[in-house]
Amino acid sequence: MSKLGKLLKRIYCAVLPKSEDLEEVLSLNAKADLAKLFFFADKTREKFCGNGIVLRGIIEFSNFCQRDCFYCGLNKNNRKLQRYRISKLKLFNAVKYLVSCGIQTVVLQSGEDLALDAAWLGDLIKEIKSNFNIAVTLCVGERKARDYKIWRLAGADRYLLKIETSDEKLYSSMHPRMDFKNRLNCLRVLKELGYQVGSGNLIGLPGQTLKNIAQDIIFFKRNDFDMIGIGPFIAHKHSQFAGKENGDVGLVLKTIALTRIVTKNAHLPATTALGSLDRDYRLEGLKCGANVLMPNFTPQAYRKLYEIYPQKRCVNEPVGACNFCMDKMAKKIGRFIDYSKADSFKGRFLI
Ligand code: SAH
Repeated sequence: MSKLGKLLKRIYCAVLPKSEDLEEVLSLNAKADLAKLFFFADKTREKFCGNGIVLRGIIEFSNFCQRDCFYCGLNKNNRKLQRYRISKLKLFNAVKYLVSCGIQTVVLQSGEDLALDAAWLGDLIKEIKSNFNIAVTLCVGERKARDYKIWRLAGADRYLLKIETSDEKLYSSMHPRMDFKNRLNCLRVLKELGYQVGSGNLIGLPGQTLKNIAQDIIFFKRNDFDMIGIGPFIAHKHSQFAGKENGDVGLVLKTIALTRIVTKNAHLPATTALGSLDRDYRLEGLKCGANVLMPNFTPQAYRKLYEIYPQKRCVNEPVGACNFCMDKMAKKIGRFIDYSKADSFKGRFLI
């Protein structure tokens, strides 16, 4: 077996992989080596997740945010951005439309909107769950345990909260007035409440090293997340990181591949950010370990206002153009779109 083959096997078989091994793979650049890595990851995906590409329809319902994360276009200091909050009725109708397209998971995402009332969202979740047989995922940032509990009791199934970087120092350097330990605590509480929990990171953050990324992958493994979103950092001109270099797509793909090899059966999306660089790289993501796509169902009028990074994919697409586009992508690589709820593969949620 080749040296790289042995290295990949060692990573695959480890209970917790070694940081140096991961760093060595992250620094590969030769075409033949990358082909080998991606092939190994693709086989791992096939073995543990099958050939279905599962869907999470996303609705971005508010772009108000109290935070000032250095990378994000929604940061509260961005006064150029017109802010919006979608009414309950419009939001419910967007969910209804998503369901009519055959999609069975909705992700309700927003900035950390101080005006987001826990009872308001709880009522909406109840309404969605009593009208449709779909999984509800929330992605609204750090909240009190009490709120997470209200939403879980209302019927929310899943929660996404990316760690962004697992390095406390790097994290603190770009999240003013935020506490890394609180983010970890939120992830713990969410797990304890029985949510299927998604996390993830950004690749190419200013100051981030390969070692940081290797540690992120170990962090994902340790926490056994149900879903892990890995995407490139894309500089936004109205953020602290304006003018910084975007994340390298090759490094994103290597991180997805390694995360697949290490975590085996976590759901890994080919993120919208991966589709929003100089061209759409989501297909490449799906070929090196990813098994999820996240079509956008935010009502047209608001889409371009949810500008976490520039040139976001599909902002001008009519709502619902997604099905056709996704089927086409799947066919191109000999896979199929799985329209089911697609719960976690971890098997803890089958009762
Ligand atoms: N307020 C929610 C949702 C944040 S937006 C929360 O805190 O979880 C969803 C994701 O967009 C973030 O987790 C972050 O990883 C990503 N994101 C933000 N700015 C970005 C940028 N400039 N480039 C790429 N991804 C970005």
